[in-house]
Amino acid sequence: MSGFPNEPNLIIAFSGRKHGNMSLYYGETSEALNNRRIFLSSLGIDYRDLVCARQIHGDSIRYVTEEDRGSGASAYGGSIADTDGFITDKKNIPISVFTADCLSVFIYDPLTPSIGLVHCGWRSSKARIISKAIGLMQEKFNARPDNLYAGFGSSIRGCCYEVSKDFKEYFSDGLSEEGTRLYLDLSEVNTKELLVAGVKKEHIFPPQACTFCHNDEFFSFRKEGPACGRMISVMMLK
Ligand SMILES: [Zn+2]
Repeated sequence: MSGFPNEPNLIIAFSGRKHGNMSLYYGETSEALNNRRIFLSSLGIDYRDLVCARQIHGDSIRYVTEEDRGSGASAYGGSIADTDGFITDKKNIPISVFTADCLSVFIYDPLTPSIGLVHCGWRSSKARIISKAIGLMQEKFNARPDNLYAGFGSSIRGCCYEVSKDFKEYFSDGLSEEGTRLYLDLSEVNTKELLVAGVKKEHIFPPQACTFCHNDEFFSFRKEGPACGRMISVMMLK
């Protein structure tokens, strides 16, 4: 992840198409476990420790502790149910989010230290899941929003993400119009949400490249359809 402070006690990464499908449920799953093993071991993570969610485009955040280690690491059924974000202050427990067009948001507090990783599609963004994650980091870890750093995984951007007119009622930021068409930029929406939650502007790193425009590098649900693979976002405190 470009932009994040180079902290010796933090692992943060986002896979690309070249690393293969990382989902044990979506897309071609036969090689997914092996893809995870190779990608995560290159980061110094044991894939058997991975904590995964059964993401539902909701707004539930889970405080991950030792008992969650390995949930969903070897079978999708073991994933933590009904969850779209993780926070933790525990060391050596890798937390993950899976996306193909949706936005992943990485949050890091070097002081407490603690981390958060959130799956932000439009529904979760509309439900202001980022503010909920930061609120829980305040509650559980005494994290202060002005000490937090935040960055993004690659997602579909405002250049390609056409949405229905209803979205004008859902979002006041991140929308752009081109003729009669309306477009949404999830990283702009969530940059605003981070600012509202109290994160400093200079602590928020710029959005990444559009998954739809750069389909050669990333999986894109909108470009490829339901059978497309998923990329992994992963964070771990050391
Ligand atoms: Zn694009």
